[in-house]
Amino acid sequence: KSAAARRKSSTKTKPAAIVISHPDRVVFPDDGYTKQDVADYYTSVMKWFLPGVVNRPTSVIRCPEGTAKACFFQKHLIQGLKHVGSAKLKEESGAQATYIYPLDASSVIELVQFGALEFHPWGANIDQPDLANRIVFDLDPGTDVAWARVVAAARRVRKLLAQLGLESFLRTTGGKGLHVVVPLNPGCPWPQVKDFAHAFASTLAQAHPLEFIATASKSQRKGLIYVDYLRNSRGATSVASYSLRARSGASVAMPLRWSELGKLKSGHDFDIRSAPKRLARQRSDPWAGMDELRQGLDDLMGELG
Ligand code: ATP
Ligand code: MN
Ligand code: MN
Repeated sequence: KSAAARRKSSTKTKPAAIVISHPDRVVFPDDGYTKQDVADYYTSVMKWFLPGVVNRPTSVIRCPEGTAKACFFQKHLIQGLKHVGSAKLKEESGAQATYIYPLDASSVIELVQFGALEFHPWGANIDQPDLANRIVFDLDPGTDVAWARVVAAARRVRKLLAQLGLESFLRTTGGKGLHVVVPLNPGCPWPQVKDFAHAFASTLAQAHPLEFIATASKSQRKGLIYVDYLRNSRGATSVASYSLRARSGASVAMPLRWSELGKLKSGHDFDIRSAPKRLARQRSDPWAGMDELRQGLDDLMGELG
């Protein structure tokens, strides 16, 4: 058994008894969903959610008073967390900081008790933070981009990756766009990943200048799809599969099969109600096989020219 498989089978999906305070507090005011609804949601998707966050440094978006009030993007350990892993990592500044990572269901529910709605893992594991094992191409449609173009863009990204010998996986973000996720095994140093992601985005933008843009400037994005390659550096995060979004509608980031892309109507087709229904029927992981792939970036920079 691989280390990953061992981790998976030993991961507890039943949380220890963690008391949710203020269970009736409405945290999604537009939709009426409460803090207890959030805890129940994560409990119901736990088996599928945990593999994407366990042992990864994970930031959370906490909205203790609900999405209408202040929300915080939190990376570091705070006092009172007892069921969450923590480890010191070097920050970009060179200083050390204590990062948190989910261990099991109790970690997730405890973070929900602390007001977490969204979970954003690194593309690396806590024990090898300098080696990326996931690249995320975050497709961000500008204003005036019809959904069909976002769908076509994701297909193009997949195709160019396939031409480079890289298999990729699809997820809705629960927001405006899509993520195309590339597993790396063995892990790859972040500087190499960052250079590759940047070169890949630039190649797309040069080949299809009426569809893609690879520069972050918001003003130039109108009518184009920004290939946000900046999710791919040490310390950067992307939303986890099955994470709720702290947005109106209580949408969910949903991993899908490529064959499902054509049926999508938006990046927020799934939500706190429909996602658990789908999972109750789901026999196999739409991302099945991802952990068994062995693929990397060696020798690919030349091919992107
Ligand atoms: P959409 O499809 O609407 O673009 P998304 O999840 O791809 O959804 P954003 O919500 O714009 O995109 O966030 C981009 C990424 O930046 C998130 O995935 C998150 O991990 C990261 N992020 C968000 N807020 C912060 C923050 N305050 N500090 C650092 N990183 C953040
Ligand atoms: Mn995005
Ligand atoms: Mn983005």
